[in-house]
Amino acid sequence: MASTTGSDRARAALSYLRRKISSGEWPLGERIPIEPELAEQMGVGRSTVREAVRSLASMGMLETAPGRGTFVRSATPTSSLLDEFLADFSLEEILSYRRALEVEAAQQAALHRSDEDIEALELATVEEVGCSRCPVLSLGDSGAGAFDSRFHRLIFDAAKNRLLSSLYAGINDQLRTPQHRGRLANVATSAEMERDHHRVLDAIKRRDFIDAVHAMVDHVDHDVVIVNEQQEVVPPLFRTPEQQQRMDDVREGRPATA
Ligand SMILES: [Zn+2]
Repeated sequence: MASTTGSDRARAALSYLRRKISSGEWPLGERIPIEPELAEQMGVGRSTVREAVRSLASMGMLETAPGRGTFVRSATPTSSLLDEFLADFSLEEILSYRRALEVEAAQQAALHRSDEDIEALELATVEEVGCSRCPVLSLGDSGAGAFDSRFHRLIFDAAKNRLLSSLYAGINDQLRTPQHRGRLANVATSAEMERDHHRVLDAIKRRDFIDAVHAMVDHVDHDVVIVNEQQEVVPPLFRTPEQQQRMDDVREGRPATA
């Protein structure tokens, strides 16, 4: 049955390309190889490649810019339906929801991570150290990678929950839109980011979901924040000095002060 073979090939081509993207081999913002090259790599016809690229474009993972090539736009499928839905909410609401997703992903990752996930996370930690890619490239930078850190994306992969991943990608897309981008800042230094990432990774590695949750709660607190017109940080949550002290104790691994 020729049609079955054809659709099998199309499916295989689609998952081949998708894997390249989700694994980070083709990072966000990168131009993917041209059609004939891909056809040769996969051993399929150019029309099969074109069809797979079109499918991934409709999922929001690839974007073809006429005359320039095809670029990686999202590591997970996003939907314009979700974009439209999220557009009705305030930045405060979106960030709060994003924090919830990050914390749940960290917890799930601690429970479901594979050894391959840990390897990929360790690599991302090393590669993203010292640069401000977590999760905002740099303030005012409108690059495709803004609000995207491979480390964070891989935690969602390790969580093995496609819905969490898709929602996270959709949220990050929303943060990149012009009405939100200018109001966001990343307040942590790269040293703080590095320390935070190691704590999260260490907990996930040990399969300690309680530590993973604590480490991520602490991290997302200064991950992406809102700044007002005077460029002052608006804290995501108001905490009394005593409450902040308890957070700091947990972060430093000190026994909680009474
Ligand atoms: Zn981070």
